[in-house]
Amino acid sequence: MLIEIERLNERGTDFEHTYTPADFSLEDEHARVASAVRVTARATRTRGEVRVAGTIDTAVETACDRCLAPLAVPVNVSFKADLGLAGDAGGANELQDADMDFSTYEGDAIDLDEIVREQILLALPARQLCAEDCKGLCPTCGANLNEKSCDCEQRKTDVRWSALEELKNREP
Ligand SMILES: [Zn+2]
Ligand SMILES: [Zn+2]
Repeated sequence: MLIEIERLNERGTDFEHTYTPADFSLEDEHARVASAVRVTARATRTRGEVRVAGTIDTAVETACDRCLAPLAVPVNVSFKADLGLAGDAGGANELQDADMDFSTYEGDAIDLDEIVREQILLALPARQLCAEDCKGLCPTCGANLNEKSCDCEQRKTDVRWSALEELKNREP
């Protein structure tokens, strides 16, 4: 969805937009939206800058970092994006240093999709686990260790940990 800069003013313009999962891509091979993306925001235009601030509601389907099981992560974020208008002299560069969220915009419209995509990806936790104690996959045979244990794990346990156990038992 494009927001025409011409139509924005200092008082702000409220808007709402809902993307269906089919027409919204996160452009990320490990994550996709699993439910409608609801965006409620206000766009304000001042002299050299457009600010878009609001909330995003959706759910993202990704995979557990350890066992690769599909995982639905709810995303409910408040966001604020400041866009400097390219070609507007002065201020823009100073602001860019002061505010990490600042990006320059060229053209006569703002692409809301771009902002929403970035905000959703930022909102995802760095570590995605199906459960805090997920046992993951066996590195040798690929078995999901949450569902079963495998022989290769047994062997590793025998060799490595029995030596350690001996050491422990020897301590007074
Ligand atoms: Zn897992
Ligand atoms: Zn195994």
